[in-house]
Amino acid sequence: MSLTNDVIERVKVKNPAEPEFHQAVEEVMESLEPTVEKHPEFVKAGIYDRIVEPDRAILFRVPWADDRGNVQVNKGFRVQYNNAIGPYKGGLRFHPSVNLGIIKFLGFEQVFKNSLTTLPMGGGKGGSDFDPKGKSDGEVMRFCQAFMRELFRHIGPDVDVPAGDIGVGGREIGYLFGYYKKLRNEHTGVLTGKGIEWGGSLIRPEATGYGAVYFAAEMLNVKGESLEGKTALVSGSGNVAQFAIEKLLDLGAKPLTLSDSSGYIFDEEGIDRERLNFVMDLKNIRRGRIKEYVETYKNAVYTPVDSNQDFNPLWNHKADVAFPSATQNEINAKDAQNLVSNGAKAISEGANMPTTPEGIKVFMDSGILYGLGKAANAGGVAVSGLEMSQNSLRLSWSREEVDNKLKGIMHSIQKDAYETSKAYGDPGNYPMGANIAGFTKVAKAMLAYGVV
Ligand code: NDP
Repeated sequence: MSLTNDVIERVKVKNPAEPEFHQAVEEVMESLEPTVEKHPEFVKAGIYDRIVEPDRAILFRVPWADDRGNVQVNKGFRVQYNNAIGPYKGGLRFHPSVNLGIIKFLGFEQVFKNSLTTLPMGGGKGGSDFDPKGKSDGEVMRFCQAFMRELFRHIGPDVDVPAGDIGVGGREIGYLFGYYKKLRNEHTGVLTGKGIEWGGSLIRPEATGYGAVYFAAEMLNVKGESLEGKTALVSGSGNVAQFAIEKLLDLGAKPLTLSDSSGYIFDEEGIDRERLNFVMDLKNIRRGRIKEYVETYKNAVYTPVDSNQDFNPLWNHKADVAFPSATQNEINAKDAQNLVSNGAKAISEGANMPTTPEGIKVFMDSGILYGLGKAANAGGVAVSGLEMSQNSLRLSWSREEVDNKLKGIMHSIQKDAYETSKAYGDPGNYPMGANIAGFTKVAKAMLAYGVV
């Protein structure tokens, strides 16, 4: 047994019933195997066992009153994973599926992703099993205030800086930041994803989707290709999916699909700017379901989720590139095989861990350009890092300045991952390159601190 396999086994035994966390650790540790021989100093300092253990995990009760005056109770989480290279940084997820294992998987991934951005940010993640769907604005506000009533004592602009994720967008960040400001009596950069009038950065809402598209463009560029004229499959219809579509249109590609947890739409004519505006209004203002798209655009086809099916038909349409941008494990081996068989050239993951290990194996065996989430969706946290810099400097950069910095960061992530994969003898193996590059920087910092 290798050291990295031993670490995986210990994680499974010590953290039972956390399958997503096991999956994330396994994916990273397997690709770190070649570093064991190259860095005996990491082994001696116990870095591999230390990096899988979060610095701390905070669990708390979130009681709040609904519109009828009934008391509701949710679970709150913040996992501060690793602050070796900067303050803890990572989003908050509000979704009924949230549990400690999901937050640990996301926090663990965040450590390596943040390191890859070249910015000084540690990794963390948090959230709640609260479901914002069908709740009034007042209920969402009271929930956010109750959540912050406990979280405020654990975070700070130099300690831990949360942001959005599934179910946490501009509205929720507003309520959370407003309550933090009230409790602490300070206006500091304690959250990112803030509104532009109160300390936010231009391009932050766009950053994850734009970044995933820039990453695909960078991967294609290595092969002498571009996104111009290419067809694209996109899943999800939230923050990441919407801005992935916008950037695809900017770069001359033709997006064909969008989804939510109830089903997906396929629009053969392409989701153009007018249709994207319709989706933004539907999802961000009216908070409706994606199936309403076909009531307005009658040529498009809506397919509801069929839980008896062992594949997702969204990934079975012929297209050149794919951007999974909904949630974890949304592409299984069959979906991956469908994408490959239909001739897809590149996958760029807007979501976190959207492909199962079996699906990743299909991609790696096929030689398709596979941009894993840790690298491809790092644009969001990168611009969050830029928002922190602007808050500290008390300056606001222009849209163009931030977008250029984002483009530059996505370029250097792709280059770093590619060069590292080459240095370790497997050029183009982005998962291996990204994991090793992200890990090495954090491991060196941990080594410098001694055993702490
Ligand atoms: P949003 O809440 O804005 O949108 C999420 C979308 O995914 C919705 O369309 C939602 O549908 C769908 N979805 C969520 N859960 C499921 C599920 N279990 N099954 C099917 N569909 C689902 O979230 P984001 O766009 O911000 O996040 C999407 C992904 O991107 C997540 O994996 C997130 O971790 C990742 N990510 C986000 C970043 C950001 O900056 N926002 C940064 C980096 C990664 P429905 O409305 O029906 O729930």
